[in-house]
Amino acid sequence: MKIGVLSLQGAFLEHEKMLQRLGIDTVEVRQRKDLDAIDGIVLPGGESTVQGQLLRELDMLEPLRQKIQAGLPVLATCAGLILLAEHIADDPTTHLATLPITVKRNAYGRQLSSFSTAADVGRLKDFPLVFIRAPYIADVNKGAEDETSTDAVQVLVRVDGKIVGVRTANQIGLAFHPELTDDTRLHEAFVAMVKSKN
Ligand code: GLN
Repeated sequence: MKIGVLSLQGAFLEHEKMLQRLGIDTVEVRQRKDLDAIDGIVLPGGESTVQGQLLRELDMLEPLRQKIQAGLPVLATCAGLILLAEHIADDPTTHLATLPITVKRNAYGRQLSSFSTAADVGRLKDFPLVFIRAPYIADVNKGAEDETSTDAVQVLVRVDGKIVGVRTANQIGLAFHPELTDDTRLHEAFVAMVKSKN
């Protein structure tokens, strides 16, 4: 089993290190052919506009979208969450658009642009949450609240009433950065998701 980490821009090394700590083989995904040999993919934080543009220029956007739609497990943090979102608030741009949510970019304003706190994330108790110029999830899109639907969105965590983590059958989307903490539990949950699909 190999997990790819999209390595075009941003904080990909931290995800690699965390997966390697769990004994997982990782592949840096930099070109289209790298998508062929992976069982799951991490979309790291960084700058979503830059990452989206590079995915387009390298002809990777469409193949990656198709793989995720076909069930490839994906763990997305921050900018990665923006890449996955079906809608971006106040912006006509979309990138992979596989996750039926609306995200709001740089949603906490200048004063609160970076902060940390802790909360339960699904069944994981007291998880450390690190936010850096983070988005939040303004809405779960229509139809996706239906738990019987295959792309039902489950809310994992809210902070101050705002949704900051969700999952579907094969996508985990987080507004915060577990890779910048010592807590490996979310990466372990992702590895379990990848194993269950293979
Ligand atoms: N603000 C960034 C964006 O819009 C995301 C920040 C991050 O990934 N830490 O892409």
